[in-house]
Amino acid sequence: MTVVRTPLVVGNWKMNGSFERNQPLLESLLSHLAQKRLPEVGVCPPFPYLAQVGALLAETPVRWGAQTVSEHRGGAYTGQVSATMLKDLGCSYAIVGHSERRQYCAETDDAVARQAMAVLDSGLVPIICVGESAAEEAACQTLAVIDRQLAPVLLALAGVADEGASVVVAYEPVWAIGTGKTPTPEGVQAVHTHIRAALDAAGLVQTRILYGGSVKGSNAETLFALPDVDGGLIGGAALDAQDFSTICTAA
Ligand code: PGA
Repeated sequence: MTVVRTPLVVGNWKMNGSFERNQPLLESLLSHLAQKRLPEVGVCPPFPYLAQVGALLAETPVRWGAQTVSEHRGGAYTGQVSATMLKDLGCSYAIVGHSERRQYCAETDDAVARQAMAVLDSGLVPIICVGESAAEEAACQTLAVIDRQLAPVLLALAGVADEGASVVVAYEPVWAIGTGKTPTPEGVQAVHTHIRAALDAAGLVQTRILYGGSVKGSNAETLFALPDVDGGLIGGAALDAQDFSTICTAA
């Protein structure tokens, strides 16, 4: 059976944007994307702009989502935002376990798995980030780190394998994020092959695997041509309409 996975490109705006800047950015992006053959495309602005971005993208092919989410369903969790609230805002995705959340907010592998399940339970697609630090890479720990990060996710997903199409994994080497450095294409493919094998063994054959970390218009085509790369999670370049549209059309 041939498995077809729709390529996906998601822009992670991180803590950038303003009411004033978001509109021209999205208008420019939409005009660059018009008439092009597109993969699935989404953008993830900060929480306060989700309603604005949703209103601007409502009648367009571009979807939107959040950069993190609470693992809890509701209640006394001051400052947190639940997956059902994101659904109310028309979100399609929530990124979970981004390395900046793991680093600055001390999110654990288990907490990330619980967030992913909360997202899935609300009918949205979790984009689950994994990836090794520079020190782990230097110590040849890349695959071990990824296995450790994925383990609770795979455990939580056991039994909902038919949900594979509703889950996305993003491989983002921490040392490649925002640095202009990327692994070699062979290096990316080797990690994606490893993740693919783990997902397939868990019955998650439809789950897409994105690459993230210094993807630009100039390297997107090479990265997206790799057999187990199903698209990208884009940081800095997602804030440049022209570069982001070049990346989208490369997928
Ligand atoms: P970058 O960030 O594209 O700026 O390297 C990627 C990410 O953090 O998702």
